[in-house]
Amino acid sequence: MAEPYDHDNIFAKILRGEIPAKKVFEDPFALAFHDINPQAPVHVLVIPKGAYVSLDDFLDDAPDAQVTGFFRAVGKVARELGLAESQGGPGFRVLSNAGGDAHQEVPHLHVHLFGGRPLGPMLVK
Ligand code: 5GP
Repeated sequence: MAEPYDHDNIFAKILRGEIPAKKVFEDPFALAFHDINPQAPVHVLVIPKGAYVSLDDFLDDAPDAQVTGFFRAVGKVARELGLAESQGGPGFRVLSNAGGDAHQEVPHLHVHLFGGRPLGPMLVK
């Protein structure tokens, strides 16, 4: 069973403005900020404004408008960062870890947006 949402997780604190983050985008559905330990020249985290542990509970519980709004925000961030091929950019990768096998560390849904160099194969074997 999915764990209950922890309102003291680090991304909840960023959402509440209790700890700083280098914001790149914000709208009513999502906040995007640079990852503190970037794995690529562009490594941005996009998080929903609601209290969701992972994609698991988000896609199960969130109202359709929030799901749509969140994923549209991911697309806006990719375009605003100049990564989207539709805008002449080089492309990007989106990844979201959900749960133990995925090595999710922060229990607030986040999508990693990577870009800025060729990203290689999808998974390390
Ligand atoms: P996960 O493994 O949960 O998918 O990824 C968590 C990500 O959050 C990691 O890439 C990590 O570097 C990032 N992270 C952890 N704490 C902070 C923080 O306080 N600020 C920011 N900007 N990123 C963080």
